[in-house]
Amino acid sequence: MKAEDQTNPLPEASATEVIAWALQTHAPRIAIAASFSMEDVAVIDMATRILPGIRVFALDTGRLHEETYECAEAVRRRYNLTITWLCPRQEAVEALETSQGLYSFRESVVARRACCGCRKVEPLGRALQGLTAWMTGMRREHGVTRHALGKIETDAMHGGIIKVNPLADWSQADLLAYTTEHNLPVHGLYSRGYTSIGCAPCTRPVSPGEEPRAGRWWWEQPEHKECGLHGR
Ligand code: SF4
Repeated sequence: MKAEDQTNPLPEASATEVIAWALQTHAPRIAIAASFSMEDVAVIDMATRILPGIRVFALDTGRLHEETYECAEAVRRRYNLTITWLCPRQEAVEALETSQGLYSFRESVVARRACCGCRKVEPLGRALQGLTAWMTGMRREHGVTRHALGKIETDAMHGGIIKVNPLADWSQADLLAYTTEHNLPVHGLYSRGYTSIGCAPCTRPVSPGEEPRAGRWWWEQPEHKECGLHGR
């Protein structure tokens, strides 16, 4: 992940200030990417206070936890949002599952990236079409692949549009405090030891002291733990 963008006009700004800048600069051609993690819900909460009806999209990989759908519905109802869901191309999933089986992602990093490529990366490309910016709930504390995360970055993987990470410098304590203070909807898996939300077969609870994303693709090395949405 690249360092803070040199063009970032708000290097010391708070999350709310970053979101306000992003919406003023890019609405309506900006959207929030949601996997319904605690971070994503916090970003949605802050953004809707400034711009009710902010565009939100989500990727339905076909392998999500039931709790993810339940949280998505709670968020949709609470904020009266239209959430745009993007699914993978049917023919791509059919070809992958027919030729490689249902758990090919466990066999190698290459095979895992092929699955993420068709279930996540390609739909994300469609979601970002026509946008000049997108917003995420990524934080530097998530793990080694995110330690240099900037609050505002140029996203070279997606045509140089702006990627906004308002919570980049938030700690887990910051996140919990905001979630509690505003009584936000919380994904049901957190209470079962999960600290990062992804596809069901590729996410598991973590042990005390492990990095938040240690439960994602736990059979891989930490430097590989990105799905292609945010670099590799
Ligand atoms: S997280 Fe796992 S199931 Fe989901 S798209 Fe990636 S490899 Fe496939």
